[in-house]
Amino acid sequence: MSRVYNFSAGPAALPIGVLERIREDIPDWNGTGMSVMEVSHRSKDFVELAARCEQNLRSLLAVPDNYSVIWTQGGATLQMAMVPLNLAGPDDTVDYVQTGSWGKKALGEARKACNARLVADASDRNFTYIPDEATWDRSDDAKYLHITSNETIAGVEYHELPGGDIPIVSDMSSTILSRPIDISRYGVIYAGAQKNIGPAGITLAIVRKELLEPQRENLPHLMMWKSYAESDSMTNTPPTFAWYVADLVFQHLVEQGGLEAMAAINRRKSEKLYAAIDASDFYSNPVDEKCRSWMNVPFILANPDLDGKFLEESRAAGLANLKGHRSVGGMRASIYNAVPEAAVDALIDFMAEFERSNG
Ligand SMILES: *Cc1c(COP(=O)(O)O)cnc(C)c1O
Repeated sequence: MSRVYNFSAGPAALPIGVLERIREDIPDWNGTGMSVMEVSHRSKDFVELAARCEQNLRSLLAVPDNYSVIWTQGGATLQMAMVPLNLAGPDDTVDYVQTGSWGKKALGEARKACNARLVADASDRNFTYIPDEATWDRSDDAKYLHITSNETIAGVEYHELPGGDIPIVSDMSSTILSRPIDISRYGVIYAGAQKNIGPAGITLAIVRKELLEPQRENLPHLMMWKSYAESDSMTNTPPTFAWYVADLVFQHLVEQGGLEAMAAINRRKSEKLYAAIDASDFYSNPVDEKCRSWMNVPFILANPDLDGKFLEESRAAGLANLKGHRSVGGMRASIYNAVPEAAVDALIDFMAEFERSNG
């Protein structure tokens, strides 16, 4: 077996210990004589898994009791539609800050559902910064403020939350579980699983209970957070395998010392990578230093003609999936929880060597 260091933006690396445990579990999960994919989601074994999974997530993120933990399908993209459908009536106003492509997509979905306003927009500088909050054109009567905590493509992350009294709704797909957060400052948090939680196919929403009641009539069951909250996320057959892996990932994070421990590692990983980029004229990162992401680190080669060679040689050196998003160019290293510090060290060494041979 030969594992590489996987810098994929998503679906992304999973901890090797979790993968080995899955391999062991497959033929006979939990003494059932069946794989987890073959048991009823209503069986005692699976219901226990779901309860433990929620308990561990609640303890990792310190989720207060007045929040529901909800698992859906449809990815973060479905949550972009469920947010305005549940939190706003057709004539209500909602505010969106656009610091990248995902925030732009979320705004597009909200515009179909209600009066969604763009209150701040970083597209003028190719999504490399967060506009100063003092310049935001916020509404007086908005039902909520939507932000994208970490824009995965350009690598722009809020390190401080905006102020105000209305609920903050955040897409945390690519930053959830990277560090402790204060859940009580949010109305709703949502995240697709395939970055820091587990495999694609399951999606997390953490919703303040007072916001569960949909603000419009006749929503289909699967579009209402309330239905999920009332059925322990078993409104219909849930993605049981993905849920099972998420449970293993959370157990793994608890064993690692929880999110304080992850935050220390993640801070170190990102700081050393940015330091290596900044110390060189060969590489650069275009993002405002105040809002550089801990999880997604794009870097541009001064000579883009070398991009192909960089990708080929890095892959040969066991560093996979470093190609940047087409809208940014160059490279992107996604360094989620499951990407070990040794991977970042190996990348930094490779970058220095590549610069020596090609600079
Ligand atoms: C990956 C990602 C998405 C897309 O999630 P899906 O689960 O594919 O719908 C949305 N928002 C952010 C911030 C992401 O990183």
